[in-house]
Amino acid sequence: PTSANQAISRLHTDLFIGGRWTPAASGARFTVENPATGAPLAEVADADADDARRALQTAADHQTDWAATSPRFRSEILYRAYQLIMDRADEIAAVMTAEMGKPLADARGEVAYGAEFFRWFAEEAVRIGGDHTVTGDGNNRIVVSKQPVGPCILITPWNFPLAMGTRKIGPAIAAGCTMVFKPAELTPLTALLLTEILTEAGLPDGVLNVVTTTDPAAVVGEWMGSGQARKVSFTGSTEVGKILLGQAAETVMRTSMELGGNAPFIVCADADVDRAVDGVMVAKMRNMGQACTAANRIFVHRAVIDEFTEKLTGRMRALVVGDGADDATQVGPLVEAKAVDKVATLVVDALDRGAGATCGGTRPDGPGHFYPPTVLTDVDPDADLMHTEIFGPVAAIIPFGSTDDGSEDDGSIDEVIALANNTPWGLVGYAYTRDIDTADLLSTRLEVGMVGINTGLVSNPAAPFGGVKQSGLGREGGRLGIEEFLDVKYVSRPIP
Ligand code: ADP
Repeated sequence: PTSANQAISRLHTDLFIGGRWTPAASGARFTVENPATGAPLAEVADADADDARRALQTAADHQTDWAATSPRFRSEILYRAYQLIMDRADEIAAVMTAEMGKPLADARGEVAYGAEFFRWFAEEAVRIGGDHTVTGDGNNRIVVSKQPVGPCILITPWNFPLAMGTRKIGPAIAAGCTMVFKPAELTPLTALLLTEILTEAGLPDGVLNVVTTTDPAAVVGEWMGSGQARKVSFTGSTEVGKILLGQAAETVMRTSMELGGNAPFIVCADADVDRAVDGVMVAKMRNMGQACTAANRIFVHRAVIDEFTEKLTGRMRALVVGDGADDATQVGPLVEAKAVDKVATLVVDALDRGAGATCGGTRPDGPGHFYPPTVLTDVDPDADLMHTEIFGPVAAIIPFGSTDDGSEDDGSIDEVIALANNTPWGLVGYAYTRDIDTADLLSTRLEVGMVGINTGLVSNPAAPFGGVKQSGLGREGGRLGIEEFLDVKYVSRPIP
């Protein structure tokens, strides 16, 4: 397999504007570090508002020509890029692990997941539909078609450095939108590699313009205020999402917001406990818990809580923690020191409020931003981690129901629905039950955009990803994903 260092040494680390790699006008650069070791990996261009303005101007200049390309042309670029990503999977995974920390096996999984958005949107590009009807009085034709919204601002987080990019770039290309793209400052290298791949796949100059920066407020602020962009697609914290929504209001810009979550994971009295443990290992531990879909609150019926806790603790204890670049590693470091501080503080608060720890719970010494897999029992509903995204490998178990076997209707489902919905977020909820009526009830009443029934993973390029409440607006992926990048135009024509 390609070593990360080899791949990174070959990488372009400047800004990519109008098809050319150019340094920031100020000459500034910033260092990208390996979270497992603290070692520097590369120096990347650090853009300011002037660079940002150039990038968006370029995107705006190319919008008309790009929108006029054929759907098949855009589709084939995406399909070639999908193939190139798969061909270079090992190299991309190595870079991702080096800058973000996830174990290589997870990184390879993300490569396949991320590439799949390009294949999906290659297929969608040639299926953009419309509608053709007649007015009620029979006098006029109503011809409804779709057009690209125009230049888009794409902003991604660090937790899925490839897939969060392809999930936005894919539909933008398919729809015929030009872009300015700002990857997270912690993980720009994967995005730069993706940019090279898209160029190799034949993406015309000026369609995708990539700006790396340590000052996202200045760069994105410039874009949001310019009036040249017609849409912003953001994945990140609810806090930043609210700032962007405020800025978008100024120019009435279209928005897609994938914000935070506080996912409930519900294990009913009749659940298959082994499957529920398998599911929570995925829903909790994927990406070391650093996912907006991560199971943040694990509600377990008292009838099965002892068995569930014991089995989950066994699985969590057996995990191998280490540098993600080692093949044996199952749990890598968190992305930065601040992330470990946050997780450690949340755990201390939960323990102070009476929770127990059946494994983990203490911060290790030594280099790298590591935190051990942790299981907390009897977590107080007022603990801070019930109301905060943990974003770490900490499973917080909260009991519900009574200790009997749950076969009688003990009101426990109503109880757990109320607990689960007691949050301003609403991205995803997971539930394990063998009863189809219970599954239906939970699917209906959980205030979320996505529900996993007897599964701990809902993300899929073919499915509409997104939330309700303060988890965001709009959907990514699936048939709806491309609609976020299309405007409706209706043409009226008298019938002769
Ligand atoms: P996280 O907590 O996952 O790092 P953030 O919302 O801080 O989430 O970051 C997600 C993305 O938003 C990153 O690309 C980051 O650079 C960007 N970002 C952070 N602050 C701002 C801001 N004020 N305006 C626009 N983008 C921002």
